Amino acid sequence: MIPGPVEFDPEVMRALGAKTASHVSPEFIAVFGRALQRLREVCLAPSAQPFVVAGSGTWAMEMAVANLVEPGERALVVNTGYFSDRMASLLERYGAEVVQARASPGEVPDSAEVERLLAGGRFKLMTVTHVDTSTGVLAPAEALVRAAHRHGVLSVVDGVCATAGETFHQDAWGADVYLTASQKALGVPPGLALLSVSRRAMDSWRARRTPVRSLYADFAEWLPIMEAYETGRAAYFATPPVNLVYALEVSLGQLLREGMEARFERHRRMAGAFRAAWRALGLRTLPASESVAAHTLSALYFPEGVDATWVGKVREQGVVLAGGLHPQLKTRYFRVGHMNVVSPGDVLATVGAIERALAVAGHRIAPGSAVAAAQAALLPPG
Ligand code: PMP
Repeated sequence: MIPGPVEFDPEVMRALGAKTASHVSPEFIAVFGRALQRLREVCLAPSAQPFVVAGSGTWAMEMAVANLVEPGERALVVNTGYFSDRMASLLERYGAEVVQARASPGEVPDSAEVERLLAGGRFKLMTVTHVDTSTGVLAPAEALVRAAHRHGVLSVVDGVCATAGETFHQDAWGADVYLTASQKALGVPPGLALLSVSRRAMDSWRARRTPVRSLYADFAEWLPIMEAYETGRAAYFATPPVNLVYALEVSLGQLLREGMEARFERHRRMAGAFRAAWRALGLRTLPASESVAAHTLSALYFPEGVDATWVGKVREQGVVLAGGLHPQLKTRYFRVGHMNVVSPGDVLATVGAIERALAVAGHRIAPGSAVAAAQAALLPPG
């Protein structure tokens, strides 16, 4: 129950173990083509250009930056934690002049301040971390993306800890780059960087004055490949991760069978049950309020008298959780991922293990009280 890599469906794992076909075989062409089409549906972005490349989430971030930023251009980072910091440093590497809208850990930057910056800042692009995995903070992506659009600023949304778990309608909201990785709510082991890029962002890339500085990032290399596979032809730039693409095609098929809205709703329901358990245990969340709390993970301060070694005690109870990540607070909190195949059974098992580990650590808790609170939240209404 960590915030990625998560648990994967057995059918997805079987695809990884399948015989590796040639990357130019008809069989692989069909699979890759379907995976790209399905990615459009998952991002709710039929009009955008999908890219699927071997790499991790950081690579998806780097591809967005390498292609859309030229030295001296200005970028606004809506900073909600560790991964927003990473985005800012990437932008600086590629020569951008970076301005950051900041907030205390657990909060989102003030929207009026972002609006003011967008209005006066002459920015080429704005970046948002939809869910910052270090804080569990959910940024108001729709409002931010729409604000950027109004001011003619490209929006880049890091969906690594959100895609297919948090509501996101790329086309309807007008988001320019929606980037993500395979190992979280998309349900595929680590190794894929995925991007969905609007026409406006592709036009902005076409209008560059300077070449993209990284060969492996350059849309000029990848666009013909994606277009070829999606229209049933093979093309070569760099060998695709054949089995990960098989696994992606299977997982995206499962996601779409569940339905995106149903999937977002399931993540909200599971998060709601976890929140009920946290309240019952008196655990304080790192996000300052429920309105800025992610549905894909929980970040919680350790209770009194418990330190980071307690995560090991939960593991002894059979559930793997993650420690802290935010540099300022790292040792003071822990994280519970609830993405992808997460079910009511996972919620109850996790909360039960946390209750036992708290008891082992000397906390007096009424056995089953948090489990009951989660269960009550999971029961059908009425
Ligand atoms: N952005 C966010 C929001 C993330 O959670 C992560 C990874 N946890 C990344 C970017 C970087 O992804 P990766 O570790 O796959 O490079």
